[in-house]
Amino acid sequence: MDLPFAESYKIKVVESIHRSTLEERTNWIRNAHFNLFQIKSDQIFIDLLTDSGTGAMSDKQWGAIMTGDESYAGASSYYNLKDAIHDITGFPLYLPTHQGRAAENVLFSVLVKEGDIVPGNSHFDTTKGHIEFRKASAIDCTIDEAFDTTAYHLFKGNVALGKLEDVLKKSGDNVPFIILTLTNNSAGGQPVSLENMHAVKKLADTYNKPVLFDSARFAENAYFIKLREPAYKDKSIRQIAKEMFSCADMMTMSSKKDAIVNMGGFIAMRDPELFRQCSMFNIMYEGYITYGGMSGRDMNALAQGLYEGTDFDYLETRIKQVEYLGNRLVEFGIPIQAPIGGHAIFIDAKRFLPHLPKEEFPAQTLAIQLYLEAGVRGVEIGALLADRDPVTRENRYPALEMVRLAIPRRVYTNNHMDVVAVALKNVFDRRNDIRSGMRITREAPIMRHFTVELEQLG
Ligand SMILES: *Cc1c(COP(=O)(O)O)cnc(C)c1O
Repeated sequence: MDLPFAESYKIKVVESIHRSTLEERTNWIRNAHFNLFQIKSDQIFIDLLTDSGTGAMSDKQWGAIMTGDESYAGASSYYNLKDAIHDITGFPLYLPTHQGRAAENVLFSVLVKEGDIVPGNSHFDTTKGHIEFRKASAIDCTIDEAFDTTAYHLFKGNVALGKLEDVLKKSGDNVPFIILTLTNNSAGGQPVSLENMHAVKKLADTYNKPVLFDSARFAENAYFIKLREPAYKDKSIRQIAKEMFSCADMMTMSSKKDAIVNMGGFIAMRDPELFRQCSMFNIMYEGYITYGGMSGRDMNALAQGLYEGTDFDYLETRIKQVEYLGNRLVEFGIPIQAPIGGHAIFIDAKRFLPHLPKEEFPAQTLAIQLYLEAGVRGVEIGALLADRDPVTRENRYPALEMVRLAIPRRVYTNNHMDVVAVALKNVFDRRNDIRSGMRITREAPIMRHFTVELEQLG
């Protein structure tokens, strides 16, 4: 008999979590005005709000914390992290920042100006925010298959080269760089193939444009390349990562994802002139260049996390858990984004609750029902998140109404995944009794999803 698969770690420290009653949850969610961001974490049993900064550090990372060097300038922890970044990405130069969006802020202060156009594959929301804040625009060149939850494509994060070339032909003078997001979060944690990265780099070279990798989940992307791109099946994750970064001139990193730390980020590059220009903004916005928003101990934990995050056995454990949850939901007939991505399951709320009009926020309605059922917190990725049109002030209704279940790294067991799956099945079985959705009673003019207040209709 084949031995079953099991996690590539055992548990040394634990944290208690508590089940609650339906009555308690009903009160809590009402007091939170039906906004899951307003719920206290101790009112949650299983928290799948985000995989960002929510991972469990290893004994080696905690050990590295004790040997952090807190010198203001020239800390050994800075050089320790420099070696790890060079070793794994090949980039010789880097600047630490307090998280991913801070890396974007520093780099874009140098590279992006009013009227610029930044093409890429579904820019992450903070990335887009930092581009638009500078009165520049982000153009999405992702392949069309990414926007159809039922279409099966192994690399739904890929750039459509034709779309990219059209932008370069039409507005090349205004393009400061091309950005690739690995994995493509907005399309559901979907990977980009190495073939596509090489093709994007070749096109970029033709037009003399640098390529930036937004690398938050680069290691999960490398895992999918190893499994799905035949030419790389015998390469190690680190060999694949090196080849990936050879297609880029610079990277930004939210270390809260694949580097498995609770806070941190960085920018890395090859060009010493770009490093010098970024250093100035790093000193202004983040801190002196050898700590830039991070303490020495945190740089040490991050250096160790980069090695652990690119270990095949860890990645296999991680992604198999996401797949495990996804497969259980598919067995129950629950409509999810296919294929299953690297860090989260995306439930298609329009197909789950087809009888609810979009004006009643079906994805938020479903997220509330899941919380009521079992104390599980997911997040709405739909019309609430999409905000109102800045000009007409009408609600914007995106093509996809989703509930995202993001799985923290090394935190929950598959028993927890079973609870989530069965809770969703129970909601699915009574979906026709959910006759109505939600109505907004109070909202902020921008980024409303964090503070919006709602009431239940019917
Ligand atoms: C999380 C994330 C960011 C922003 O990073 P923060 O650490 O949250 O500031 C940028 N890009 C991608 C793809 C991300 O997932």
